[in-house]
Amino acid sequence: MNSFLNEAQKMQESLVQDRRWLHAHPEVGGSLPNTVAYVKKRLEEIGAPGQEICDSGLVVLLGGKKPGPCILLRADMDALPMKEESGLPFASTCDRAAHTCGHDMHTAMMLGVVRLLRAHEDELCGTVKIMFQPGEEPLIGAERMVQAGILENPKVDAAITLHVNAVAPFPTGTLSVAEAGVALASCDNYRITVHGKGCHGAWPYQGVDPIAVGAHILVALQQLNARELSTSEAAVLTQGMFHSGDAPNIIPDTAVIQGTLRTLDESVRQRCLKRFQEIAAGVGAALQADVEVEITGGCAPLVNDPEVRADALRYFRELVGEDGVAEKEGGPIMSSEDFANVMAHAPGIQVSLAVNSVAEGARYPMHNPKVMMREEPLYIGTAAMAYLAKRWLEEHANP
Ligand SMILES: [Zn+2]
Ligand SMILES: [Zn+2]
Repeated sequence: MNSFLNEAQKMQESLVQDRRWLHAHPEVGGSLPNTVAYVKKRLEEIGAPGQEICDSGLVVLLGGKKPGPCILLRADMDALPMKEESGLPFASTCDRAAHTCGHDMHTAMMLGVVRLLRAHEDELCGTVKIMFQPGEEPLIGAERMVQAGILENPKVDAAITLHVNAVAPFPTGTLSVAEAGVALASCDNYRITVHGKGCHGAWPYQGVDPIAVGAHILVALQQLNARELSTSEAAVLTQGMFHSGDAPNIIPDTAVIQGTLRTLDESVRQRCLKRFQEIAAGVGAALQADVEVEITGGCAPLVNDPEVRADALRYFRELVGEDGVAEKEGGPIMSSEDFANVMAHAPGIQVSLAVNSVAEGARYPMHNPKVMMREEPLYIGTAAMAYLAKRWLEEHANP
């Protein structure tokens, strides 16, 4: 057995312990005080303390004794604002937060990666930069860490993340990487606030009805897809919230619409964002309302680099053998991942680890309150990330 796999397997119990603590104590968004305190404590125990470069964003540097490039490995740590219904004995202790996207597993595995690479630090040909980030779900954490300088000192030459999959088309424990090129969509979450003028419902002409204006904006925005983008450039525009008013006979002052805009190409994304704001403001102006458009979080399309991908799949086969690795086929999907904002600056990939599959009885996807992830492959994900980093540095160090 490969020594990295063997060493990671011996850590399985502590991986499970970390995962269960994190799972029971989820935190949501860009500020994760308890999670960060736990991760910092564990990093100190491992002997590789982390540095907080921005709110809830931790960096650990490993290696650097031998010259070579820098590879970044990232784990996201935030949960979702929902109630868990898994029935697990270590389920969330909070009614308003749950680790239904598996970021607890990502964080636990990354602690294992630090421990594993710390033991092999002298062998690393260059630097491994470990990134623990908050706020992946609201799409603010990766960008915050980019702004805080995560890509510099040393400069990042390759960027890798791993996401678990609870309804994988492969057996539990399988490592895979989606096809090279665009794998996931860009995503921009927006909030449109329509400022009208409230009045009595019997005399609407005395005010400006923000609900009516909001409805016109929603219809007008469909023109983007219907008339402005070519058939090969399709975007997804979803409005998941439209809130306004408190009574049937009062015209309210404001209406708030929130939603998400997704594309598969950065230039299409930028065009859509520009036109989106022009349409919303223009319709508002035509109908006498002030319209405010805010982008509350966003990320670029995630692009898997062909060379990094080919290298990674080769290292994974060395690590777990042919049967433990699959090549995910098919085109991009419209979900997103904010690590794309790091990968926009350095070639990289998103690795997928199967932690349950339909064939093995998985019934609920990620983000479902009942999603069930198996812990058995935690050590495989840990070994895979650590081994990939070590081998990639080895093969890309200047002679
Ligand atoms: Zn998620
Ligand atoms: Zn996620």
